[in-house]
Formats: sequence, C-alpha cells, structure tokens
Amino acid sequence: MRNSAECVIIGGGIIGASVAFHLAKMGMKDIVILEKEMFLGAGATGKCAGGIRAQFSSEINVKISLLSEDLFERFSEDTGEEGIFDQVGYCFLVTNHDDEQVFQGLMKMQQDLGAPVEWLKPDEISDLAPNVRIDDVIGGTFCKKDGIGDPHVFTQGYVTAARRLGVEIYEETKATGIEKNGDKVTSVVTDKGNISTPLVINCAGPHAKEIGEMVGVDIPVLPYKRQISTTSPLSWIPEHFPMVVDIASGLYCHKESGGLLLGWADKNTAPGFDQSLDPEYTDEILMRALDRIPILEEAGIATSWAGLYETTPDHHAILGKVPEVEGFLCANGFSGHGFMHAPGVGQLMAELIVKGEPSIDISPLSITRFAEEKEEIREEQTVI
Ligand SMILES: Cc1cc2nc3c(=O)[nH]c(=O)nc-3n(C[C@H](O)[C@H](O)[C@H](O)COP(=O)(O)OP(=O)(O)OC[C@H]3O[C@@H](n4cnc5c(N)ncnc54)[C@H](O)[C@@H]3O)c2cc1C
Repeated sequence: MRNSAECVIIGGGIIGASVAFHLAKMGMKDIVILEKEMFLGAGATGKCAGGIRAQFSSEINVKISLLSEDLFERFSEDTGEEGIFDQVGYCFLVTNHDDEQVFQGLMKMQQDLGAPVEWLKPDEISDLAPNVRIDDVIGGTFCKKDGIGDPHVFTQGYVTAARRLGVEIYEETKATGIEKNGDKVTSVVTDKGNISTPLVINCAGPHAKEIGEMVGVDIPVLPYKRQISTTSPLSWIPEHFPMVVDIASGLYCHKESGGLLLGWADKNTAPGFDQSLDPEYTDEILMRALDRIPILEEAGIATSWAGLYETTPDHHAILGKVPEVEGFLCANGFSGHGFMHAPGVGQLMAELIVKGEPSIDISPLSITRFAEEKEEIREEQTVI
C-alpha cells in the first residue's frame, strides 16, 4: 500500500467511486479509495432499489437530480463503460386533494428548473401501469426523464474508469483514524498502515458519523433499516412500466427481472446497523402492495433484503468542506437518494476541490446549516 496520496476517499460505494472518477478526470493524481469490505458497492449501494428521479420538493435536490440524470444519460461517453439507465419515468399517485395541491405546486417548481414533469389523469396512469388500482386516484405527476438504473453496473463503471485514470483502490482496508496537525488533516490511519495526505473525503455512507468522530466533528447521519421484496416474473408487466409511488401508503414499485420490486420506508424504525430481515416489515410492504395492485395475490415472492438508509435530520445530503477541519470534506447523508445523486455529487465535489467552485451552488447542503438558524430545507417525498 502506498504511504502518501493527494487525496484519500474513505468508502467505496457509488459516491466514493463517482467522486474518485470525477477528481481523476479533472486531473488530480494519486487518489486512493479505502473500502473496508471485500468489494466496492457492498454497503448501501448494493441494497439500493435503483430509482432515479428529478421529482423532489427542494430546489437543490431537483438541480442535483437533473445534473445526475444528464450524467447517467451520457455515462458511456464520459467513462467509456456501459451504464443501464432505463428511463421509464416515475409516477407519483395522488389520492387526496391536499396532496393534489402540494404535488401540483411542486410540479411547477420542478418544471421551472427544467424537469419535464407532467400531470397525468387516472386512465393515462393505467395505460402506463396496468393492474395498478386507480379507483381512488385523482391523478399523478410523471417525469419521463426519471427511471431506474443498475447500482452495481454504474458503481463498477466508475471504478473501472477511475482505475484506468490511475486511482488506487484498497479493498478490505479499514480507516481507523485520521491524524491532524492543529486543524489540518495530515494522514489517514488504516488497519494496513498509514497514508499521509492533505485531503480526506468522507464517503462512508451509513458510517459517516464514525469518520466524523475521527476528526472531532459531529456529522448528523444515522443508519435506518429499509427493506425490499421482489416478486417472481409476472406476464402482464410491460417494458414501459414506470416507477410507481403511492404517496398515501408510501409503497413504491418498479419492474425488476420480469416481476416487480416492492419497497416501503418504515418511518418508525429505530436507528441502528441491524440489517436482518424482519418478517413483519416484509408483511407491511406486501399489504401495501396488495392494496394498490390486487392482482399480486397470484404472485410469488422471489427475494427480500434489508439495507441501511443514511439519514440526516432534514433528509438532505451533507456536501462540501467542514470549516473546522482543513482538508476534510463530506459527501454523506443522502437519506435514500444517494444512488441517483452520485454522478452529480461526484462532479460537484471534484469541481469544488479542483476548481474551487462547483457549477451548482451546494451551500444549502453545507454541514454548517445544522448549527445556523437558517430557514430549513425540507424534503417531503422521502418515500424513496
Ligand atoms: C433498501 C434501500 C433502497 C434504496 N433505494 C434507493 C433508490 O431507489 N435510489 C437512490 O438513489 N438511493 C436509494 N437508496 C439509497 C442509496 O443506496 C444510498 O444513498 C447510496 O448507496 C449511498 O452510497 P454511499 O457510497 O454514500 O454509501 P455506501 O454504498 O454505504 O458506501 C459506503 C462505503 O464505505 C465503507 N466504509 C464505511 N466505513 C469505512 C471505513 N472506516 N473504512 C473503509 N471503508 C468504510 C462501507 O463498507 C461502504 O462500502 C436505497 C437504500 C436502501 C438501503
């Protein structure tokens, strides 16, 4: 293992991989990624549902999504690696008039920022998503630029392209400490030796807080268990079946291996690193799915799994420099949308580091917001 680097990235999920690729593409040399597991993408990235959307309720999230969707679209061109971004769209089902008002207001904001979001009538939703019950649906927002992507394929794509540009990746290597001289980062301590470096980027997903503790900074990111189940193949799923989000129940679903992937975020889960499969959680997902898609009564369950969301108090990421510690940056706390934001986050972090300023103002996502009495940024659509 090398003993010095221009930059050490802690965490080899899709965020660390994208940040490394974009830094190397912008000319930075001697970049190292440390990953404690045997392979990259073994954390939250490997548990992800693959949803990619621009329909958010804060402007900053819409902007990062639109940038990321553009980058997903031209992934092969930028990286030389194949990506799979199936732009089947995202459809949010609205079943009451309060939500109708909220979502129509959000649609206007999203359209103003350039997202091609439209309002669909119930029969138009049915055409896109057959067998989804619409008897109580007033309408829904739909964005055709949204869709689903394969987290493994995109992570591997960034990793391969980053390696080609000289990035070194150390698997099964855990960062155990960060050394400072005064307020300046000087090196990363690992279980395989030390790497001296002036720059450390925290890309540790649900473990972000532990990395912050190494430099004495509180990073308010907590891990929350989230579960997913998939059905066996279903004959009636068309190629264009979109991601469907039932706002009232929180159920989300999209096509997966000929069947459906079903998910739901249980907001009552206590924080913790437990990733065991909870049968009651699975039942809650299936109940919501049967209510919205009754024909699933005939379907079998193919597989279920649990993973961790890395959640901040306002469900927005923490991006950029940490003022108290020179040379320490964060790309953390994506609260369930780190996969879809990874391309944009990688580019913006690299621009901040290499050019001094990112092309989108990421100051609303600064870690300082938790200490300042700023008007809160909020994210309502936290279902996925
Ligand atoms: C069930 C589920 C469904 C989801 N669905 C979606 C979705 O549809 N769309 C979407 O955009 N997002 C979704 N997400 C969220 C998304 O998966 C995450 O936001 C994203 O993967 C975060 O990527 P990351 O690289 O920051 O974290 P991770 O993938 O967790 O990577 C962090 C890495 O850091 C490593 N690490 C930690 N500590 C250390 C250390 N001390 N030393 C070395 N390495 C360390 C870990 O092993 C890990 O590999 C979902 C998440 C879950 C759990």
